[in-house]
Amino acid sequence: MKLLDKVVVVTGAGNGIGRAIALAFAKEGAQVCIADIDIAAANATAETIRGNRGRASAWKADVTVEEQVESMVENAIAEYGRIDVLVSNAGIQRLGEIVDFSFADWKVVLATHLDGAFLMTRACLRNMYRVGKGGAIIYLGSVHSKEASKLKGPYVVAKHGVLGLCRAVAKEGGPRGVRANVICPGFVLTDMVTSQFPALSRDLGISEEEVVEKLLQATTVNGQLTLPEDVAEAAVFLASFPTMALTGQSLVVSHGWHMS
Ligand code: NAD
Repeated sequence: MKLLDKVVVVTGAGNGIGRAIALAFAKEGAQVCIADIDIAAANATAETIRGNRGRASAWKADVTVEEQVESMVENAIAEYGRIDVLVSNAGIQRLGEIVDFSFADWKVVLATHLDGAFLMTRACLRNMYRVGKGGAIIYLGSVHSKEASKLKGPYVVAKHGVLGLCRAVAKEGGPRGVRANVICPGFVLTDMVTSQFPALSRDLGISEEEVVEKLLQATTVNGQLTLPEDVAEAAVFLASFPTMALTGQSLVVSHGWHMS
């Protein structure tokens, strides 16, 4: 087992990619602490892990709210003793051209991805530094950390920002044995993506089936879409990497959509 007894915090693990990461980590022996604004979904992930004889707990927390993040991390440390790995995964999407984008939606996209990643990082880093055994932080970036698409301006800005946060954490955390890396997935068929289909279909004047074919599958080298489990496999690799050699990096997991 690659993560035996490691204490990991995964945000947004009630659904989609975060859930797949939480399940994969548990399979590798990790004890999983879930923070999600959707407590029913978070509990369901924790119950699945416990049903497989793993250890997991779930807390309701909005990653953009400082007090909720601080209290979630405090509770996780009280129950599990320390934090070895953070996966900052919680995210949202809002579509629209920049010319029409509301300031409120701009702020909520940036807050979820950047304030959320900062607040979770700070709370977990403080514990990692205090315990003195190092740690690993994994951010969910995106192919949109590396390039842009129409209608996704604020998301593109936020995901580029995640790369900067990761690099800063990698430099500051290095002397204390903390690694930080970013996973950059291509399109993965989760609620975040399927919920965009009606708007994309309307704005682009194509059917929802064509959205999948022409917009999503057309980006990959073999017409296949990346699965949550593919991203989870990359997360296990980054979390369990044995030395400080792999830090400050971004790993694109997109069936070849973006090559860097
Ligand atoms: P999803 O919508 O399936 O799941 C997101 C989870 O985050 C949900 O459980 C939701 O409740 C939680 N969440 C949202 N806002 C929150 C908040 N403020 N506080 C706490 N929890 C919150 O999305 P997903 O597709 O699994 O995306 C996970 C991550 O992967 C995101 O950061 C996303 O940007 C990134 N990503 C997704 C794709 C994709 O194609 N699906 C591609 C690249 C990157």
